[in-house]
Amino acid sequence: MDETCIFCRIVAGVASAHQVFEDDEVLAFMDHRPLNPGHVLVIPKWHEPDLHCLDEPTYLAVMKTGKRLAEVLAELFEPPKVGQFVIGFHVPHVHVHVVPLYSIDDFTADAIRLAMQTRPDQDALAEVGQRIREHLLRAR
Ligand SMILES: [Zn+2]
Repeated sequence: MDETCIFCRIVAGVASAHQVFEDDEVLAFMDHRPLNPGHVLVIPKWHEPDLHCLDEPTYLAVMKTGKRLAEVLAELFEPPKVGQFVIGFHVPHVHVHVVPLYSIDDFTADAIRLAMQTRPDQDALAEVGQRIREHLLRAR
C-alpha cells in the first residue's frame, strides 16, 4: 500500500467510497466527481501506476470487471455508449473509468475539468451505487 495514494487508502478501508463490487483482486466504486451518473472506477487492489505494467491475471481481472460493469450500466441507464478508458494523470493508481456516454462531448478535456470542479453529491452517489450493486446481484 502507498499511504499517500487515495485509492490504496480506499482499498485499506481508511478512506471511504461508494463501493459497487469487490473480489480478491479488484475493487470498483463510484467516481465521486462523475462525468455522468453511473460513472464507476475499477482498480486493482495493489498500487501500480500504469495499466500495462500490471501482471496479466490482474490486468484481465480489472478488464473483466470493467466489462461486467459496462453491461450493468448499459442495462440501467440505456445510454448510446458505455465508455471505458484509462488515463491516470490525477491518481497514479490504475483505474478504468466505466461511464454511460450520451455524446462525444461527455468525454472532452473540458468536461473532465468541469466534473473535477464539482462538489461530490454523496446522496446521489450512494443511490446510484446501490442500484448498481443490486443489479450486479440480480445478474449473478
Ligand atoms: Zn495506490
